[in-house]
Amino acid sequence: MSNQCMQMTTSMSCANRCSFCWRDEKAPVSKEWKWDADDSKFILKESKAAHHKLPEGYNGYNDRNKGAYEKSKQIKHVALSLTGEPIIYPKINELIDKFHEEGISTFLVTNAQYPEQIKNLKPITQLYLSLDAPVKNLLKKIDIPLFSDYWERLNKSLDYLSEKKQRTCIRLTMIRGLNMDNYEDYAEMIKRGDPNFVEIKAYIFIGASRKRLEMINMPLHEDIVSFSKELVKFLPEYEIVSEHIPSRVVLLAKKKFKINNEWHTWIDFKKFNELALSGKNFGIEDYLKKTPKKFVGLSGKGTVDLAREKGITHDVQ
Ligand code: SF4
Repeated sequence: MSNQCMQMTTSMSCANRCSFCWRDEKAPVSKEWKWDADDSKFILKESKAAHHKLPEGYNGYNDRNKGAYEKSKQIKHVALSLTGEPIIYPKINELIDKFHEEGISTFLVTNAQYPEQIKNLKPITQLYLSLDAPVKNLLKKIDIPLFSDYWERLNKSLDYLSEKKQRTCIRLTMIRGLNMDNYEDYAEMIKRGDPNFVEIKAYIFIGASRKRLEMINMPLHEDIVSFSKELVKFLPEYEIVSEHIPSRVVLLAKKKFKINNEWHTWIDFKKFNELALSGKNFGIEDYLKKTPKKFVGLSGKGTVDLAREKGITHDVQ
């Protein structure tokens, strides 16, 4: 639930200037960490305070969902993403420990430009790696990387991702007219990273990306479904599990998570927390949970159907 998920980043800086990013040209970019590093305890305290401040306005609103507001006070997850590249914060492992000590599960998204940091990252609940294009020249065009060896870095990052024992996910951000073909190349890169999950999501026409891309570059959910169906033909170990139409996302998972014909792609957070704090070796199988039936499969609906259901009558695109 997003009300109980703290979204934050440990670094405002990034080694890419992705065309689809909501950040503008004034956002800091750097190859290395070159600032003083705040203490992990301080970051945890201030992040929690900021999370609590965010929904405060709802408290004075009579028609608020009281349960949702009250629950927002108990933070259950952290999404280390938002802006910048979180993995380059020098005390990232210390901070991850602190989140786990507080019973907060950890999700981190990396742009795959820091393979050594991926290798040295402590077990987290779910590690995402962005794969924005499956061939070198297109990656350069879309991500506009600072590193000249950006392609080698991506490939090395995929290698280290494949060695992780906990949950891993490769995320594709699809931009209509730019990176929605090359199925075989995507499949090759995905096989190299060997993730448990592949999340295929639409670029959203938002923030400063609107200066660089057009509305037409934002795929409909239908486009994401078609792309996913084609891609999965090249990935025999995976199957489509589910979708989220408002976010225009389709999820693929390794078939091994279909146990006795029932998908097990959800997370047992309590179990993860116990394992993370135990100091023992553990893997994804130790904190899987059965996927509720209502979240399995494709509905056959798309962005336009959803808009109609919500009473939005103007053209979606
Ligand atoms: S890697 Fe992420 S934060 Fe950096 S420019 Fe790309 S989308 Fe934005």
